[in-house]
Amino acid sequence: ATPTAVMVATGKGATQGVLIKGGNALEKAHKVKTVVFDKTGTLTVGKPTVVSAVLFSNYSMEEFCTVATAAEANSEHPIAKSIVEHAKGFLNKFGSTEHVVEAKDFEVHTGAGVSGRVGDKMVLVGNKRLMREYNVQVGPEVEKFVSENEKLARTCVLVSIDGKVAGSFAVTDPVKPEAACVISYLHSMGISSIMVTGDNQKVGIDIDKVFAETDPMGKADRIKKLQMKGLTVTMVGDGINDSPALAAADVGMAIGAGTNVAIEAADIVLMKSNLEDVVTAIDLSRKTMSRIW
Ligand code: ADP
Ligand code: MG
Repeated sequence: ATPTAVMVATGKGATQGVLIKGGNALEKAHKVKTVVFDKTGTLTVGKPTVVSAVLFSNYSMEEFCTVATAAEANSEHPIAKSIVEHAKGFLNKFGSTEHVVEAKDFEVHTGAGVSGRVGDKMVLVGNKRLMREYNVQVGPEVEKFVSENEKLARTCVLVSIDGKVAGSFAVTDPVKPEAACVISYLHSMGISSIMVTGDNQKVGIDIDKVFAETDPMGKADRIKKLQMKGLTVTMVGDGINDSPALAAADVGMAIGAGTNVAIEAADIVLMKSNLEDVVTAIDLSRKTMSRIW
C-alpha cells in the first residue's frame, strides 16, 4: 500500500475508534481467513455476576465468603471482582466483614485462579485446572455442580481450603449483543471464527470451533498452528492471558476496555470495545490494499 493510503486508512480508523498502530497491520488484515476470539471480556461483556454459591464442606457460608473475599481481594480478574462483590454483599447482609483479612503469599495463576494463605488456611480460588495443579480432589458432587452449570454457559469457580473443595460460586457473563452478528458477517466475508479460552467451552453463541481450558501459551500455540496451515490469523483479546497470542497473530486486536498488557501487545486497538470493529478493521485493510483511496 502507498504511504498515502495507509495514512488515509489510519485516519479513517481513528475517527471510528479503530486505532491502527502501523502500516503492517493494514497490509495484512485483508488476507485474514480466521479470527480467533478470546471468550471472557471479548465475546462476553466481561462483567460476570455470581448467580449461586454452594458449600461442599462443613464451613459456614459466612466463613466461606470471608475466605473467598480475602483470597480474591487483590486480584484484578473480573471474576474475582464479582466474587468479592457477592461475598461481601452476603457478609454485609447476613454476617460481618470484620474477619476479612488480607491473604498472605498471594499468587495469581493466569488463566486458572489465585492462591494464598488466609489466616492459617491454605486457599485456592479458581478452575479445575488450578485444583489439579495442587492435587486437590474434585469429587463427583462437585463435578455434578460444575457440569450442570456449564450446560447453562456459566463458569464455576471452585474454592479449596486446606486441600479440599469447600464450595463453589457459579458465575454468569452474558455474550455481547453484537457477537452473533459479527460472526455471521465474517462468514459472509469468507472468514471463520474460533474461540480459544481459559474457561470452559460453553458460550451462548454459534461459532465454528472452540478450544477450551487453554492457558496463555496454549492460546499462542493455537495461533501458530493455524499459521502453519498457511492461514493469516487475527486474534481478538482483552486479557494479560491473551498477550502471547496477540503478539503471535498476524494481526492482534485488543479490546479497548481490556488490560494495558493486551493493548500493548496488539497491532490494532478497538477503542469502543465493540466486536463490529473487527469487521471495520478488516474492511479498512481491504480498501487500503485494493487502492480504493
Ligand atoms: P478467558 O481466556 O476466557 O479470558 P481467563 O483465562 O481469564 O479466561 O480465565 C480462565 C478461567 O480461569 C476463568 O474462567 C476462571 O475459571 C479461572 N480464573 C482466572 N482467574 C481467576 C480468579 N482471579 N478467580 C477465580 N477464577 C479465576
Ligand atoms: Mg479475556
